[in-house]
Amino acid sequence: MNDTMQHSTILVIGAGAAGMAAAIAARRAAGSLGRSCSITLLERNERAGTKIRISGGGKCNVTHQGTPSELLEKGFLRLNERRFLRNALYGFSNSDLLDLLRSRGVETVERVDGKLFPLSGDASSVVVAFEALLRASSVQQHFSCRVRSVERKGDLFHVTTQGASFTADVLILATGGVSYSRTGTTGDGLAIARSFGHSIKESSAALAPVYTVKAPSASLSGLSLRSAGFAAVASGCRVERQGDILFTHRGFSGPAALSLSRDIAELCTQFGSALLYADLFPQHGVAELEEQLLRHARKNGAQMVRKFLQSCPIAPLRGGFALTACGTIPTALVPFLMREAALEPEVTWSTLAKEKRQSLLALLKGFPLGGVREVPLDQGEISAGGVMLSEVNPKSMESRIVPKLFLCGELLDYAGEIGGFNLQAAFSTGWMAGSHAF
Ligand SMILES: Cc1cc2nc3c(=O)[nH]c(=O)nc-3n(C[C@H](O)[C@H](O)[C@H](O)COP(=O)(O)OP(=O)(O)OC[C@H]3O[C@@H](n4cnc5c(N)ncnc54)[C@H](O)[C@@H]3O)c2cc1C
Repeated sequence: MNDTMQHSTILVIGAGAAGMAAAIAARRAAGSLGRSCSITLLERNERAGTKIRISGGGKCNVTHQGTPSELLEKGFLRLNERRFLRNALYGFSNSDLLDLLRSRGVETVERVDGKLFPLSGDASSVVVAFEALLRASSVQQHFSCRVRSVERKGDLFHVTTQGASFTADVLILATGGVSYSRTGTTGDGLAIARSFGHSIKESSAALAPVYTVKAPSASLSGLSLRSAGFAAVASGCRVERQGDILFTHRGFSGPAALSLSRDIAELCTQFGSALLYADLFPQHGVAELEEQLLRHARKNGAQMVRKFLQSCPIAPLRGGFALTACGTIPTALVPFLMREAALEPEVTWSTLAKEKRQSLLALLKGFPLGGVREVPLDQGEISAGGVMLSEVNPKSMESRIVPKLFLCGELLDYAGEIGGFNLQAAFSTGWMAGSHAF
């Protein structure tokens, strides 16, 4: 690349989901307004869509089934984030995204849980579709082109990369979050936004595994608790989720742990540490569970408690311990429950002392999983924090501080759940930024 200055009407930084959508939407907006314009996309990696390629374990959970309002409710648990994303998700919805992909030959398939994936089972098919759309939109693309700084001089943005300089009338920042930094997301865009006077909420982990001070026993590693409650407690504050919990060699992962990781990271920041618990009967209150255990004990006095636990469904429906669609307490966990409750291996319901029954009950409702050592920011599928939403117009993604500066995607201070919500939010906010860039 030479040292000459190139001018564009619109310059987009970052060729991830948000940046690619922004560039394509800008071209469509120009077309519908009958405006001629030049659009440039700068990306520090050698190619576009690095994170999309690795998303969903290489299969890309590209979005989620449902109306925009259902997506907002399921995918974004914090009300301010939901409110902020509303216009974007209605403006460029999951069906708009699917139509766009279909226009380039990418069909999708819906799983029973509502997640949508490309039918090919290959995440790169989504990137290939977007690359074709970028070409068809005559977007000038520069790869291996890391933006070092941006300044505003008069009406123009001056963008400096290693070895090249660009000017633009409109700048769209789509540089992503800060997790999985090896994919190019090292927070450059946050520094640029800060240099323009934007407030940045400090980045923190989200959709990340939770590492414990003492790793779970090796015999539990790889084991899954289905539909259990996962809770973290610090100084009387409690956060929890229900879902599958996976024991790993460093702590916990699986949907419930990933979903709660953002809250856990925040608890740890606020209080220095947090303790983790699993609730094996999240549908039952303590009194209700005690009553059911007593009823069961009366009917099955000769049954060993150990045997009961080995066949006991987690989160059974109210009204008994009949097997349901949920999993059972894993056999490997039973010795830990017995030891923790100080129960003799052969104890039966009829020989179980009241105080032992009560300690078992307490354990079933709050099995201690240990103290949190770390919620590793870089291991998160996304990062929370970023450019404060109050400083960005949700109807256009334009900065409320610097006119003609647009911000979109994971760079913004929102964080979605697992299920295709984060890619959808990046595509939607990117599309909105591009559509309003004139
Ligand atoms: C392992 C993994 C799996 C995931 N799976 C899913 C999933 O299945 N479904 C889902 O919805 N979400 C998933 N996500 C989250 C999702 O991928 C992101 O939320 C989404 O890609 C964010 O899009 P973005 O465009 O905002 O940022 P990114 O996709 O991160 O794009 C930002 C781009 O900006 C570039 N850039 C940064 N700084 C500069 C600079 N200075 N100059 C030039 N370019 C720069 C980066 O190289 C990058 O290409 C996953 C994430 C990870 C890490």
